[in-house]
Amino acid sequence: MNDNAVARFKEEMKGKGFQNKAVVSAEEMARAVALLDAQDGVVETPPEELRYIEGLLRLPLGHLDQFKIVPGKGYEVCACGRTPTALDIVSHALKKRIHDVETIRDTLIGFTNLVEFSEGGRAAECFDCGRASLSGSYWTHAYLYA
Ligand SMILES: [Zn+2]
Repeated sequence: MNDNAVARFKEEMKGKGFQNKAVVSAEEMARAVALLDAQDGVVETPPEELRYIEGLLRLPLGHLDQFKIVPGKGYEVCACGRTPTALDIVSHALKKRIHDVETIRDTLIGFTNLVEFSEGGRAAECFDCGRASLSGSYWTHAYLYA
């Protein structure tokens, strides 16, 4: 399983008529997450940063048991030494008001299994120093961007 498997999954979803995002079944979500987990260069957000994200979004403590990312090419480690995680993406989205807190919170609570199709990754900022960052894909139990 590799990036091609992820690409095939996206093509399959697009073949079902989904354009930019898809609400999928629990079974499809589990399959997509397994494909993403098997990619090269997966970074797990450390537990203390998961707790920080829960705090930012007023989620119950311990709600997120994993939130993984694959940094964009050339963005695996920031010039300041930090390895980007989901915290960089979430805090950037909140700071720049890309989405409001409720939207991000609802997404991470997981009322639906949501798949968003990436076109070349999503810009973020290093949580420690503010330098530009890019994430290729990121995912948690009921949401994925890839
Ligand atoms: Zn940095």
